[in-house]
Amino acid sequence: MKGTMKALRSYAPFDYRYEDVPIPTARSGEILLRVKGCGICAGDIKSFHGGIRIWGTDESNRYIDAPVIGGHEFYGEVVELGEGVQDFKIGDMVVTEQIVPCDECEFCRAGKYWMCVGSAVYGFKEHAQGGFAEYVLLNSHSRTHKLPDGFSPEQSVMVEPIACGMHAVELAQIAHSDVVVIAGLGAIGSAIVNMAKLDLPKLIIGIDIKQHRLDLGEKFGADVVLNATECDVVQEIKKLTNGMGCDVYIEASGSPKSVTQGLEALKNHGRFVQMGVFAEEVKADWNVIGDGKELHIIGSHLSALTYPAVIEGIRTGMIKTDGLISHSFAMKDWDKAFDEAEKNPDAMKIMLVP
Ligand SMILES: [Zn+2]
Ligand SMILES: [Zn+2]
Repeated sequence: MKGTMKALRSYAPFDYRYEDVPIPTARSGEILLRVKGCGICAGDIKSFHGGIRIWGTDESNRYIDAPVIGGHEFYGEVVELGEGVQDFKIGDMVVTEQIVPCDECEFCRAGKYWMCVGSAVYGFKEHAQGGFAEYVLLNSHSRTHKLPDGFSPEQSVMVEPIACGMHAVELAQIAHSDVVVIAGLGAIGSAIVNMAKLDLPKLIIGIDIKQHRLDLGEKFGADVVLNATECDVVQEIKKLTNGMGCDVYIEASGSPKSVTQGLEALKNHGRFVQMGVFAEEVKADWNVIGDGKELHIIGSHLSALTYPAVIEGIRTGMIKTDGLISHSFAMKDWDKAFDEAEKNPDAMKIMLVP
């Protein structure tokens, strides 16, 4: 497609620019989307603030190919098909997974492309420019999924974050006898509550420090919610479990304190699932894991193979999205949106609309 489009490009920490760039053209295997909406991820905020995992300490260990168009939680309408694309047609509404795998490494060949060692995440790499723009080019290695007719902007934008949450739930292998704690009730944490509930465990306990999120966690199926600023969370969990502790602790807050709290709250042989992303290093007593409780520590990265199930779950209503998007901003007001995401205690997921 010819012409220029507006796009939000990341140049450096605190230096993002909303500017005109050429509209990309779909080459072999590629798809051009007209972006309908793009969610702001906690990772996007961390990136804006100069997060070290993205910007590194200098050019040599930098992940981001700046300047680059940010945003990986987008959906849009197919407007141009590159040669050889067969599964989609002009006018389809689609989401694409946040990762662009290499399709060549050991993990890709084993079908575990979300662990690809040569991968890119949309919004950070030259060949995977993101969705904070009027148009986005889908790399030929993308995993793209058609959205059902009538999906709302909220349902469409929430597919990516919920998919990450579903992977964490999948890894927790929840049994009916389990007491499950979900720490952090943001948009993903609330969705995790919802999906954990579908496994019918004995009890679901949600933890957060913001009242709005605790209310939402309850709405999404938590039997008990605890405000970590108002009570001793570990003691409350022990009280609710005859002093034994919980079976599963899903860490979805990215707060280091939540890690030590989880290690304490778990019972012997408990499962700790790490999903949240930290801005700083975590200090914890590692002895609890081995010599103490023989815990299972499980890492959860991106969304694995969950997109089709998430889309179907949203379509049938088993997976709820109501209230997960708290604000929607015109893309040109991106700075206000980032600010709101950071400072408004009632903010959940915020989306930008080009
Ligand atoms: Zn994200
Ligand atoms: Zn790979």
